[in-house]
Amino acid sequence: MRTTAVIGAGWAGLACAVEATRLGHAVTLFEAAHTPGGRARRVDNMHGLALDNGQHILIGAYTATLQLMRDVGVDVDGVLLRLPLSLRFADGGGLKLPRLPAPLDLLAGIFTARGWTWRDKSSLLRTAVGWRLSGFRCERGTTVADLCAGLTPRVMRELIEPLCVSALNTPVAQSSGEVFLRVLKDALFSGSGGADLLLPRADLGALLPDAAIQWLLERGATVRIGTRVRAISSEVGRWLVDGEAFDQLVLACAPWDAARLVRASNLPADPWCETTEALRFEAIATVYVRGATTLAEPMLALRSDPATAPAQFVFDRSQLGGLQGVLAMVVSANEASREVLEEQVIAQAAAQLGQANLRLVQTVVEKRATFACTPGLARPPSAIAPGLQACGDYVEGPYPATLEGAVLSGLAVARALTTP
Ligand SMILES: Cc1cc2nc3c(=O)[nH]c(=O)nc-3n(C[C@H](O)[C@H](O)[C@H](O)COP(=O)(O)OP(=O)(O)OC[C@H]3O[C@@H](n4cnc5c(N)ncnc54)[C@H](O)[C@@H]3O)c2cc1C
Repeated sequence: MRTTAVIGAGWAGLACAVEATRLGHAVTLFEAAHTPGGRARRVDNMHGLALDNGQHILIGAYTATLQLMRDVGVDVDGVLLRLPLSLRFADGGGLKLPRLPAPLDLLAGIFTARGWTWRDKSSLLRTAVGWRLSGFRCERGTTVADLCAGLTPRVMRELIEPLCVSALNTPVAQSSGEVFLRVLKDALFSGSGGADLLLPRADLGALLPDAAIQWLLERGATVRIGTRVRAISSEVGRWLVDGEAFDQLVLACAPWDAARLVRASNLPADPWCETTEALRFEAIATVYVRGATTLAEPMLALRSDPATAPAQFVFDRSQLGGLQGVLAMVVSANEASREVLEEQVIAQAAAQLGQANLRLVQTVVEKRATFACTPGLARPPSAIAPGLQACGDYVEGPYPATLEGAVLSGLAVARALTTP
């Protein structure tokens, strides 16, 4: 049996380790942190609450992720609340899709969008038909702002900006039109339920990492949680991981960690390192607050402004299996300091949700949450050297930095390993 080391137990590394084990490889999985899951993991709060490092949304089109969850024994319908796509604001405005087959759901959603004029609706219909006729393709250098030049300001504010920031975590003026169209195509035009929101009603550990680790252990894989790999090197056709030899090696760590390990190994892989090191990142902050009331829906869009009202979405954790009164306010692609964000978000909740006397529970700022998904971005390939591959949300692929992108990349790398 060929031995394979996988470094990193984020969602890409877990997908890779599970698939490689299923294919008959003897897998050893290394994870530096004490909790698996990487950028989508459970964190224990000082009050003993199980919170996440950031509120996550899955969508119906995440077919690989949902299948992987089922394969390792997760009750997908139990841990995820499935709702038709809704970008409703607390004041009732905005778009919500009814339960109809695609693309009738989108058409009906546009016609019934609250607070939209005929001009708003017809601008979106015209633009969406144009995207469909072009096969959801555009020039590499096109931004989302360019793609949406024919849309009214209200459609931009209430649909495109929230969709773009939640999918690409990059402002519309700097986001890749190509990747945005790909996400829209897969979510809205590739079959019923693709755009459904799947909101976690368990902590992120229960969504995949806990069950994947258990599945691996039961099948004889070696799992070393809390073990940071310091160095990799190659020696007569084998790979050394801190001195331990393996036939094949997969770097499933975040791009900055992968590039650091490869650089220090002195492998002839400069172009791969340069492409990886050139990636830029966007932050996501999740501000958990506690108040008295619940929201009208488990998730609402917020009217946001980067300078004064930075949160784009709010989640009512009490409707998602969490504690009564705890709200998760999500601030994407904003560089303001933690203190400024906390103060502004609490004021925003008071103004838009009527939630007075909110108390701060915890704020988690992920400074490098996702790579900035800009037009024409060069992403590194998975192959680094014979027997050495990388997987992760940043590796060449069709999607922005998402759970589905990470899982697809992990599965592809496992299937490209030399057969045992
Ligand atoms: C706050 C936040 C909100 C998000 N929201 C969404 C969302 O709503 N929907 C969505 O689809 N995506 C979302 N994302 C993106 C998603 O979380 C990521 O795309 C995905 O988790 C990346 O997984 P990965 O396995 O590629 O990398 P990572 O999760 O970064 O995993 C890499 C792992 O490698 C480990 N590691 C690194 N170096 C070493 C070493 N030397 N030795 C051993 N282990 C090492 C790390 O500890 C880590 O566990 C969000 C991300 C954040 C941060």
